[in-house]
Amino acid sequence: MPDNAAVTDEQGQTVTKADSWVAAAGLPPGVPRPVTVYRTAVLHHPCRPVTSFDEDLKQLVADMFASMARSRGVGLAANQIGVDARVFVYDCPDGNDEYQAGCVVNPTVFVPEGDVETEAGREGCLSLPGPFAMVARPTVAYVVGQDLDGREIRVDGTGVLARCLQHETDHLNGTVYIDRLDEEARSAVLTELAELTRAGQIPPWSAAYSEPDHAGPDHTEGVGTVSR
Ligand SMILES: [Zn+2]
Repeated sequence: MPDNAAVTDEQGQTVTKADSWVAAAGLPPGVPRPVTVYRTAVLHHPCRPVTSFDEDLKQLVADMFASMARSRGVGLAANQIGVDARVFVYDCPDGNDEYQAGCVVNPTVFVPEGDVETEAGREGCLSLPGPFAMVARPTVAYVVGQDLDGREIRVDGTGVLARCLQHETDHLNGTVYIDRLDEEARSAVLTELAELTRAGQIPPWSAAYSEPDHAGPDHTEGVGTVSR
């Protein structure tokens, strides 16, 4: 259930792979940044392709891993910390409940063609902190993109990871999961989020949610946006 889910071992410890992946990639220390919320402009348009595979990209990805860990997410797209760049990170259980971690730059997601098997799963999003909704998605998916050095990579996903790969690539295309729901389900999520916000139950890692200003544009530039 991207972006938040947890799998624990027999001792009740969460067994994730992010730390070992980050160490193997030689990333600099990451700094968590606030997570942007629904209606922040950068979440609602396609992100720009990454063209420089440099130290700035490594720092961004390190910060994304730190932000994902702080918010206990299983996936995070760059625009969820306010950065307009096509890259996501994940640390997510697959169909065998084994965590897989990594990052994909300039991803394209593929699902089986034809009569696709879909499954309705409980889905949430760090940019809509609190509510969940059922979303039907194909049960397997893969992503093709680039690694931090610009080499082509492919990530195959089953289970929650298949859902995560689709959810995170959606983010980079400007689509938040509730955009895939019917109006009633979508409005139920937004109502719950507004109620949680009013009750002061928005988590500390989240940028403040701003209810729509009916006098202004739906996607107000700058609301909840994090500057780099
Ligand atoms: Zn999300």
